Amino acid sequence: MSELAKLEIKYLKGVGPKKADILKSELKVENLEDMLYVFPFRYIDRSKFYKISQIDSNMAYVQIKGTLQSLRTAGEGKSSRISGIFSDGESTIELVWFKGVKYIADQLKIGHEYVLFGKPNFYNGQINFVHPELESANSAEAKRTLGGLQGVYNTTEKMKNNFLTTKGVQNIIINIMQTHMANYQLPETLPNYLLEKLKLPTLDTCIRNLHFPKDKQLLEKCQFRMKFEELFYIQLQLLRRNLLQSKKAGFAFTTIGRYFNTFFRDYIPFELTGAQKRVIKEVWADMKGGKQMNRLLQGDVGSGKTLVAVMCSLMALDNNFQACIMAPTEILATQHYASISQMLKPLSIQVRLLTGSTRTAERREIHENLENGTVQLLIGTHALLEDKVKFHNLGLAIIDEQHRFGVAQRAKLWAKNICPPHVLVMTATPIPRTLAMTLYGDLDVSVIDELPPGRQPIKTIHRTETNRLGIYDFVKKEIAKGRQAYIVYPLIKESEALDFQNLEAGYQQLKGIFPEPQYHISMVHGQLPAAEKEEEMQKFVSGQTQILVATTVIEVGVNVPNASVMIIESAERFGLSQLHQLRGRVGRGAEQSYCILITSNKQAKNTRERMEIMTTSTDGFEISEADLRLRGPGDLEGTQQSGMPFELHIADLARDGQVLQVARDTARLILNNDPDLSTNENFILKEQLQKKAPAVDWGSIS
Ligand code: ADP
Ligand code: MG
Repeated sequence: MSELAKLEIKYLKGVGPKKADILKSELKVENLEDMLYVFPFRYIDRSKFYKISQIDSNMAYVQIKGTLQSLRTAGEGKSSRISGIFSDGESTIELVWFKGVKYIADQLKIGHEYVLFGKPNFYNGQINFVHPELESANSAEAKRTLGGLQGVYNTTEKMKNNFLTTKGVQNIIINIMQTHMANYQLPETLPNYLLEKLKLPTLDTCIRNLHFPKDKQLLEKCQFRMKFEELFYIQLQLLRRNLLQSKKAGFAFTTIGRYFNTFFRDYIPFELTGAQKRVIKEVWADMKGGKQMNRLLQGDVGSGKTLVAVMCSLMALDNNFQACIMAPTEILATQHYASISQMLKPLSIQVRLLTGSTRTAERREIHENLENGTVQLLIGTHALLEDKVKFHNLGLAIIDEQHRFGVAQRAKLWAKNICPPHVLVMTATPIPRTLAMTLYGDLDVSVIDELPPGRQPIKTIHRTETNRLGIYDFVKKEIAKGRQAYIVYPLIKESEALDFQNLEAGYQQLKGIFPEPQYHISMVHGQLPAAEKEEEMQKFVSGQTQILVATTVIEVGVNVPNASVMIIESAERFGLSQLHQLRGRVGRGAEQSYCILITSNKQAKNTRERMEIMTTSTDGFEISEADLRLRGPGDLEGTQQSGMPFELHIADLARDGQVLQVARDTARLILNNDPDLSTNENFILKEQLQKKAPAVDWGSIS
């Protein structure tokens, strides 16, 4: 830790308690070192000066040298403003200030030479600048920035209102550098041999240059180093934890026996796809090895993960262990139970379902038979995690659609046997590689990258409100062919009541458009009691109703192969991965299926871009990459629920895949040579790891 971490920011000259509070709440900055790690998010080239005649409407920020010719104040009090005329010797432009009028009037001198910096506005063919910065052409500060690149910092509204603009932030950093770093070098946080090997600048050089770059080349080197360091320590930590974990013993499943073989030979409902076979082999290789398995199975919607889960469970049963499959929703658990117990019937396997709505008497009986080992395969929701649920001998836990489970919940599974069971986490939300590498570290990953044969790709169409009638006509035609349709409404946590209103209103409207007795509609949403939800679902599954109106409760796993239309209302409110999930509810049968995304007539640019991705791609990985690019890692499904386990200051998982690869390779190499980081030269790594360790032990599972 550097000396600067011991100095609170509020005692720095020019900061004080008020600004300190804001720095803390907005940027989590408490001390001087924290402040130095608030990096600019972009840089403006201030070595370049423009002539007024060169400015065009595409320019974000420009810098002009010239003289202030006049200043005029107008209005009173709050509505007062000040305007000025600025000349570069050839032409003139107007400058306007609405805030801090008095201060500006006092500061600026007519006839004086300034460097103007600001964003040009084009209004009625005229250029003006609102709130430009004017710096005396010969002031020290102007000299400092005249050299080249100037950082721009992320500032919130609250910061701006308290003089913590880019300039305000910069002033604090200048202040730290002048008062505390003039004769002080920041202590290095990477070992020397790494700096040499990767030709990285020192930490001290980097921090100084990220704030005040000497030139572009050095800035890029410094950015690389800081990104590398950030990702490197995450990788080092993950890989190290994995190393410790891989030493943990696990159950060795020694045989593939009667259950697996009989099922495979006589009762398997389809021929396995090549990808399914490969994954089953990978799982088997893990489970027979004597070490605990921690595997993530990524497979796009409809790729057939359930069958893989069943076959892996049979391996556990063949070795006299119990298995469990956990699903995120009651609907999904119930559906798994129905299809799996059906599949396994000929083998006389004891399969049971345990959810929040299992009745007390039955629950008690299940608990008992789990403990004495009669129940072999338990399917359920997180009700499985309760302490009361004790297994006789749990050997394999499968978690379906993992992102719905919090980390702490997953960790509970570990305690279900003396030796932790093998764990297979299945997800239909493909995670971009960079994110998987940072979220899960060295977790083994299997991928089902092949859909069962005979599927026709889903046609995806983007429509707006005005096309509504045409859409309903289309649905009627599909229903006439014997098909079924989903109509999904968004759900946001903050206003469940409001969403319910939307859903209810939509439902009423649809009843008018699709009247009884010709049409029947089911409706499910989160507030419906489980039994009713199940009943409504069942009506749709059995074909009694042709339309299912729902919120996103149907997002995961629901399987009704006869459904051929998925309509998503207010599609702009969903994440791409979520849209992809929803879309995956159709296209499960042999018929051509359709997904219709409805947005309002007016769309943000970003919405159009997102809809475009959905209509052109059906590849879950491609879509999740795009989601990462457009929304950032914090909003991605998979990170939303449990949150990112760490914060990235400078690296960007959407763009820094290569840096991440270098970081990972480097970390792996170091651990290969020195697994305990016990050599002298690696002491610094150990020290930094301790400092940076995130509070949550989220890596202990999956
Ligand atoms: P997901 O990976 O989304 O969980 P499911 O396991 O629900 O997918 O499988 C989707 C559909 O594909 C189901 O109807 C399932 O019965 C079917 N299916 C699974 N494996 C195969 C296969 N090898 N051949 C043909 N159909 C399959
Ligand atoms: Mg599934």
